Amino acid sequence: MTRLHVVIVGSGFGGLFAAKALRDAPVDVTLIAKTTHHLFQPLLYQVATGILSEGAIAPSTREVLKHQRNVKVVTGLVTGVDVDARTVRHRFHDAESTTRYDHLIVAAGAGQSYFGNDRFATFAPGMKSIDDALELRARIFWAFERAEITADPAERERLLTFVVVGAGPTGVEMAGQIRELASRTLKGQFRAIDSTSARVVLIDGASQVLPPFGASLGRKTKRSLERAGVEVVLDSIVTDMDAESVTYRRKDGETVRLEAASKVWAAGVQGNDLGKTLAEQTGAELDRSGRVVVQPDLTLPGHPEVTVVGDLAFVPGVPGVAQGAIQGARYVAGRIADLAAGRPVAADPFVYKDKGSMATISKYAAVVKVGKLEVTGFVAWVMWLALHLLYIAGFKGRVTTLLHWAISFLSNGRTERVTTNQQLVGRLALEQLGQGVTGRLLRGETGGTGEVRRTP
Ligand SMILES: Cc1cc2nc3c(=O)[nH]c(=O)nc-3n(C[C@H](O)[C@H](O)[C@H](O)COP(=O)(O)OP(=O)(O)OC[C@H]3O[C@@H](n4cnc5c(N)ncnc54)[C@H](O)[C@@H]3O)c2cc1C
Repeated sequence: MTRLHVVIVGSGFGGLFAAKALRDAPVDVTLIAKTTHHLFQPLLYQVATGILSEGAIAPSTREVLKHQRNVKVVTGLVTGVDVDARTVRHRFHDAESTTRYDHLIVAAGAGQSYFGNDRFATFAPGMKSIDDALELRARIFWAFERAEITADPAERERLLTFVVVGAGPTGVEMAGQIRELASRTLKGQFRAIDSTSARVVLIDGASQVLPPFGASLGRKTKRSLERAGVEVVLDSIVTDMDAESVTYRRKDGETVRLEAASKVWAAGVQGNDLGKTLAEQTGAELDRSGRVVVQPDLTLPGHPEVTVVGDLAFVPGVPGVAQGAIQGARYVAGRIADLAAGRPVAADPFVYKDKGSMATISKYAAVVKVGKLEVTGFVAWVMWLALHLLYIAGFKGRVTTLLHWAISFLSNGRTERVTTNQQLVGRLALEQLGQGVTGRLLRGETGGTGEVRRTP
């Protein structure tokens, strides 16, 4: 009997956990992802602020799955799905391929949304990928280095003002870490500037930080951030930005322009473009964030062989968190395994089990919410630490992470402070050269807008 062929798009929490859950199923799995790694996004902010190396949070997908004989890993950007022909089109640089499937699990995640102001991305990178985190790291350290050599006090102040837009867990963690970097790690390492005088401003349109954690934890987190020296600006919408400033509108209608060279965008998500393709072909709806409104069993209308899990799926009551993706992936994989083994497939819909949320504020301080239980401070921080270690893929990743944490928490030192020009401007340069340029660049051909020259 021919075995069912399951194609999984994405190697994030949804994709990887779906592949693992099919380990014992009589199916062949092809996992296609545009990166060669599985990414533990919750710790991206630590890569951006020099605590962890990118390898510590992004193990090779091939290595993670090397013992699972029924999985084949393919690196490629999925550019199209044909649900009638049951094929997926993908591209690795300029090599195009098509793969047929019996079952398709799409776990392509979500990107950053700038709420219609995409030009903000030039000045305020988001934080979704290793590239983003390394770019942010380069921008943050660049600002301190530039401030050290400028003679103009106004420019120095501008360079030492860091703005984080979005006070969800990512924004809170990022603001807290930039503050610690400036106050502790870099203290005494410059001669012309005092790194501790850097301003870190966290801006959000909501009236509290960490809205999903509830009002009480939001208040406590705000107080903790302010005690650490982060300025928290709530009820304020960012309306404009350029290389030198951020403009926001307060609830009372007043507009404020803040001089700030470094900006981080941690607000808003936008479902992956593959959602649009699937919606057009199956009649599924997209929500306002471009997520696919799936059926209760995570399939698409009229296509029980196509499922969407994780951040790209809209399921009422399921938040865009790792557990949402993991549980969805396991549910879908279980049904496919039953089908492949000739067992009856249960009609039960997908039910999400909320295991709680957590975020770090600074060293030794975090907030945790599990059901009605709310924990703050050191105990919450220990819980955060233990849980994150548990979920980092692979033994090597856990050991490396623990070592780096020990160095950073005990000495305030950060071992991952390497920054390069490629990290700083690589994204902007590639955007200027246009899509699909890598092949031409590698062949030494013109890059699109001009001749490729070797920089001295
Ligand atoms: C900075 C940050 C911090 C977070 N912190 C937390 C936290 O503390 N706790 C928590 O529970 N959740 C957190 N989350 C959310 C959590 O990471 C996501 O909910 C989870 O990663 C969703 O899993 P996913 O598989 O749907 O998508 P992702 O993990 O984003 O994976 C998407 C995958 O699809 C691939 N892909 C995308 N497009 C294509 C394409 N066209 N072709 C091929 N491959 C493609 C990507 O390369 C990737 O492998 C955080 C997210 C971010 C960004």
